[in-house]
Amino acid sequence: DIYGPKRKNPLGRDYAILAEQKRADEASKAIARETLTAGPIVGGKLLAGAGAQPLHSPVDRGWLIGGVSDATLADVDQAARRAAKAQRAWDDRGGKGRAKVLRAMGDALERDMDRLVALLSREAGKTLNDGVAEVREAVDFCRYYAGLAEKQFSGFETLPGPVGETNQLELRGRGTFACISPWNFPLAIFTGQIAAALAAGNAVLAKPAEQTPFVAAEAVRLFHKAGLDPDLLALLPGEGATVGQAIVTHPLISGVAFTGGTDTARAINRALANRDGPILPFIAETGGLNGLFADTTALKEQVVDDVIVSAIGSAGQRCSALRVLFVPKDSANELIATLAGALDALVIGDPAEPGTDIGPVIDEAARADLEAHVQRLEKEAKIIRRIDPGVWGAKGSYFGPVIAEVPRPDFLEKEVFGPILHVYRYDPADLHKVTASLANRGYGLTLGVHTRIERFSEEVRAAVPAGNVYVNRSIIGAVVGVQPFGGEGLSGTGPKAGGPHALLRYAVERALSVNI
Ligand code: GLU
Repeated sequence: DIYGPKRKNPLGRDYAILAEQKRADEASKAIARETLTAGPIVGGKLLAGAGAQPLHSPVDRGWLIGGVSDATLADVDQAARRAAKAQRAWDDRGGKGRAKVLRAMGDALERDMDRLVALLSREAGKTLNDGVAEVREAVDFCRYYAGLAEKQFSGFETLPGPVGETNQLELRGRGTFACISPWNFPLAIFTGQIAAALAAGNAVLAKPAEQTPFVAAEAVRLFHKAGLDPDLLALLPGEGATVGQAIVTHPLISGVAFTGGTDTARAINRALANRDGPILPFIAETGGLNGLFADTTALKEQVVDDVIVSAIGSAGQRCSALRVLFVPKDSANELIATLAGALDALVIGDPAEPGTDIGPVIDEAARADLEAHVQRLEKEAKIIRRIDPGVWGAKGSYFGPVIAEVPRPDFLEKEVFGPILHVYRYDPADLHKVTASLANRGYGLTLGVHTRIERFSEEVRAAVPAGNVYVNRSIIGAVVGVQPFGGEGLSGTGPKAGGPHALLRYAVERALSVNI
């Protein structure tokens, strides 16, 4: 089965059930009472690092989450040396041995779901449902990659050859991987990158996003508790320009996995190009300028639901999120009016409350960028609706969702990372020009089509390259092993996360030919 092994999905939560709501509430109160600490974790020990700095919640800027210390260059060096020493034994253990540890990690995450969801809500402003989906995805990554490790990393595969000669091929770990992860999935992507690198037989130096070190520290502790040799996974918090740079240019690094912005991916790529020594693999998953095309046969209610979830859900802070909706001019007025109504119905508020649809954006810098974009929309486009975040706007980094109609199909030059939906009304006679203008931006992550006509869907797909195409549904929330996730062009290098080929670039291939 090339699509990877079967696995058990973790349980979710249903907050319509009072007992589950109560558990969530208790978990979030418990987290609120704690002052958390994060810093470099090397050899399983929390080090002093460069000294603790306070970090506040995006939900309420007066709410101190805890103190975080950046890793020093000496910490990076110590972590890299320890990792290099421990990696060989881990690689020798084979896929089956490593799968046990990864499965234990999956179970540990599942057990701690309520606490992790509470932490995600406090630190990253995630709604409860987004938090649950994220913990489940992290569990899925551990279990899925455990299955791949067993299948793909369990010794030699025999290949054909002449009589008297045996030919074999095996996959082995490369050494130590740098895993650099984003704040928008501070648990799922953080854990997914690490689980992939470990599954393939590598050690890991992990740098979490500056905004979300606490849930990362929690995940590292859980990996160690699950039985991973602490030297195989170090946490090195800090800025990309200092700590990130020190990690990717360290002589003991054998590859880099990165998820984040396209510009940062370029900077890492340049740093790797300037290194001496071996040429390293770079796995990048970056931004998207994602479009969804509806035609006149699309079901209006379904389009509205799927568009709101894709563009505004998770406060638009997914790289898969919808940025531009293309509607045919004949159905545009009605669709736009219904979308505006759907926006009005959304509840903005405390993400730890079960009824909340939209929490804050990640920080003040993100909010300022979005406000600047709204100023451009005010001048050059037509704002259809803007929701006022009310009291929350003064408390935390809240940004009220926006729907704007844009005058040109290529109005957006790059990804705008937040809850802003751009709508363009197209003339079906110009469809090919409209699709070409989106494709010409050079991204290639997600693409949506809503239609009852297969030819329409084929035409759009052929014109707009994208790693993940979704027809008659939302364009977010790829499930591990079901929708392998990742793009092309400006959107990333592949291989896709949660797909059957995910581990191959984390590995080296060794062929062995023996004559008797
Ligand atoms: N995998 C997520 C999804 O399908 C997006 C990941 C990201 O934003 O980086 O929605």
